[in-house]
Amino acid sequence: MATGLLEGKVALITGAARGIGKAIALKLASEGASIAFTDLKEDDNFRNTVAEIGALGVKCRGYASDASDYEQSHNTVERIHKDFGRIDILVNNAGITRDGLMMRMSELQWDSVITVNLKSAFNFTHAVVPVMARQRGGSIINISSVVGVNGNAGQCNYSASKAGLIGLAKSIAKEMGSRGIRANAIAPGFIVTDMTNALPQEVRDEWNKKIPLRRGGTPEDIANVALFLASDLSSYVTAQVIVCDGGML
Ligand code: NAD
Repeated sequence: MATGLLEGKVALITGAARGIGKAIALKLASEGASIAFTDLKEDDNFRNTVAEIGALGVKCRGYASDASDYEQSHNTVERIHKDFGRIDILVNNAGITRDGLMMRMSELQWDSVITVNLKSAFNFTHAVVPVMARQRGGSIINISSVVGVNGNAGQCNYSASKAGLIGLAKSIAKEMGSRGIRANAIAPGFIVTDMTNALPQEVRDEWNKKIPLRRGGTPEDIANVALFLASDLSSYVTAQVIVCDGGML
């Protein structure tokens, strides 16, 4: 009988009640992983995600938790470790945009994006790494962005946070490789989610024109890369950034 690539593994995904995080949770669950995910509140999206993952026949629990809060994140990881007994995969996915040109950017815009996108990854990685070190293995995946590699006008806060996630993954890979912990980043291009649907149609059309494959990506396109990095298919891949952007960069 065929078994999933992630049978017996426990995956923790932040900000996974919708969008890319949810697609990653569903993909990892479809390969047999038990799923613990976080999001800000227990709303309809959150409850639907628990139900959809549970319907795949794996254990799934959602945790209402603000990933940018150090205490809450550590408490959440402690609860997840107690509930699931181990943590093999961490996907630092929670993220927001507060776009604006540098000349007009407020301190609040800067601080909120850096805190939610970058500090959250520190919070969860810091809490999970001791668990993975004791298990002598694990895979950490930071959801960065093409703009973290190339920059983007109007997104200096977001681009800096996403570049930071690449530096964080590469450094963890170097610090923790001897304990069997791998860390990589995915740099998605223009992916069709609620985050990008909030952009005006003209902006979305402009993005599509720049993409050789002539379409925005789907959350599942990113989930497929996450599955590769989460599983032993990538057992000799660490400290890398995988760009998944339809050729845009
Ligand atoms: P989304 O807005 O649809 O989903 C983000 C999720 O994160 C939401 O469910 C939200 O509630 C949650 N979240 C926000 N702040 C949180 C916090 N403090 N604690 C816990 N959860 C929180 O966005 P998406 O498009 O699915 O993006 C997911 C990730 O992918 C983000 O990090 C984003 O920057 C990145 N990304 C997206 C694109 C794209 O084109 N959509 C491109 C590159 C990178």
